[in-house]
Amino acid sequence: MRKYVIMGVQGSGKGTQAMMLANDLDLVHISVGDIFRWHVQNHTKLGAQVRRIMQTGQLVDDELVGSTVRRRLDDHDWNFGFIIDGFPRNAPQAEFFLESYDIDGVIHLDLPDEEVRRRVLARRLCSRCGMDYNLIAHRPKIEGRCDVCGGLLVSREDDTEHALEARLRDYYAKTDPVLDLFRRKEFVFTVDARPDKVTVQQEIRHHLDLPPYGT
Ligand SMILES: [Zn+2]
Repeated sequence: MRKYVIMGVQGSGKGTQAMMLANDLDLVHISVGDIFRWHVQNHTKLGAQVRRIMQTGQLVDDELVGSTVRRRLDDHDWNFGFIIDGFPRNAPQAEFFLESYDIDGVIHLDLPDEEVRRRVLARRLCSRCGMDYNLIAHRPKIEGRCDVCGGLLVSREDDTEHALEARLRDYYAKTDPVLDLFRRKEFVFTVDARPDKVTVQQEIRHHLDLPPYGT
């Protein structure tokens, strides 16, 4: 059984890295973002709550994130383990998490702010079907148009320099104490998130003593 936590600022590719690891090792990928998106799309009670919070331009608070993750872990459908992404959000949650689960490794993806800015500000979204694009990594075939439905591509409302700056500040303020706590008690390693996704994955596997990706 393997239990990992993956941490990294937005744009660091942590979802992609978590998925590559999860698919290969049969781990359950517990992504807080995906869980909330699922609830919003399926119009659940939690989804309505999340939608209300986002409409006012706020972030989902730590409490709600914590209870959602706890509920997800309580499903116990993770026979081979899990990789958790987007949690813990603060030191008390990390403390609780460590008491409840034997974590085997904390993957910390490091990306300089400048690169975060470059990646995040290149994100686009189809205004019709919601498909995600990125002008660096995933360009549409026709500029400004969705490959799937031909809809107009737009930036997310909160992907502005200013909003990103605030999110980055918030991210480090919250994450640094969590990382410090993990460093004291657990096995944290930092991986440079700048190279391509396979290189990053290989580096992660090297640290976790896992066979290389694609073997
Ligand atoms: Zn579309």
